[in-house]
Amino acid sequence: MRLFIFSFILFLGSVELKAQRVCSSTSQASYAPTAFSITSQNNNVPIEQVITIPVVVHVLYNSATENISEAQIISQIEALNADFAKTNKDFNKVPAVFAKLAASTNIRFELAKTNPMGQSTTGIVRKKTTRLMWSDDNKIKAEASGGSTTWDANSYLNVWVCNTVPGLTGYASFPGSAMATDGIVVRYDAFGTTGKIAFPFNKGRTLTHEVGHWLGLKHLWGDQQCGDDGIEDTPKQRGGNTGDPVFPKISPCSPNPDGEMFMNYMDFTNDASMGMFTEGQKKAMRTQFAVSGSRNSFLKSKGLAAAWNNMAPEVLPVNTRNLVVYPNPVHTSTMRLVVNTPMGVNGKNFAIIASNGQVVKTGHIQEMEQEIDVQHLSAGMYQIRLTDTESNSHTKFIKN
Ligand SMILES: [Zn+2]
Repeated sequence: MRLFIFSFILFLGSVELKAQRVCSSTSQASYAPTAFSITSQNNNVPIEQVITIPVVVHVLYNSATENISEAQIISQIEALNADFAKTNKDFNKVPAVFAKLAASTNIRFELAKTNPMGQSTTGIVRKKTTRLMWSDDNKIKAEASGGSTTWDANSYLNVWVCNTVPGLTGYASFPGSAMATDGIVVRYDAFGTTGKIAFPFNKGRTLTHEVGHWLGLKHLWGDQQCGDDGIEDTPKQRGGNTGDPVFPKISPCSPNPDGEMFMNYMDFTNDASMGMFTEGQKKAMRTQFAVSGSRNSFLKSKGLAAAWNNMAPEVLPVNTRNLVVYPNPVHTSTMRLVVNTPMGVNGKNFAIIASNGQVVKTGHIQEMEQEIDVQHLSAGMYQIRLTDTESNSHTKFIKN
């Protein structure tokens, strides 16, 4: 798989095809779709039952540009849901002969409401990194290798958003992968439909494609020339189509008048050229949720339930290099706040939040290090955080 991607990158570098989709989720030889196995079919979730998947988005950023906004993340979830429900506004562009095979999957996605500890969450984790770009080596999936650790992959779809190596748009793990590295990585400017997005991957379909893999779908050509994906209603095709092909796209591998289904999410075409999953793909994806399926545990996920652990505030990643308070514990009437954010201090505001969630003081930051009057604060534990939308820097302190 690594060789595949590196040779692809070299290839891209030589002919300057920067805007070509490259997904490195090639199905391993050991992986075979369970879609049509007799045992799993018997225990399938009823086709009309809506399955909702809690999602956690880990934003790993080096520059402020890569620290994408909440609006961009929400736009991605909305696009993903539209694609999976066949309510995508551009579905009318799908040629009639293929549109009649298209499916609404009854699979939905929502940002997690409760974290694995039972605490309330936004479903978004932000972490500053010194790393400039990430390849498809899974390092982004663990704190120990500089990434953000996977939330329980039996209950959450983990999605990491970051700057990827040139040419890599995203990659996904197939069902049955190791829990610690289970999930999807997407390039920050190929994520969502608003914000820091770049044409031609500006309709959120990199994630739609990768979720297809995460639910067991292969590329339409099965990663072989004139290969097959094991799905009965997707035609064979020569290889990955790129750019914006014109219908009908006839190839020697699909000698029918309708040609290749390049508008399927599991092809490599531009976002604007995609628009459908088939009924066969729907069936295959939903089979993952059967009693014997690899994603069955999601039916019992508590990621969208109300928080049940209200005793402690959410444990957020604290980047103490960004924000330092001293002395801590504070035993004086003023404390010093040192701000060392990558974005500088201009225009930053801060808030001090008591342990009951109440904001007890706000202010404007003028210097890298400044004095804050804390005389009026009663003894206890506080959180101080930067409150501008693109930052998640915060730290805790104790007032004596
Ligand atoms: Zn792919």
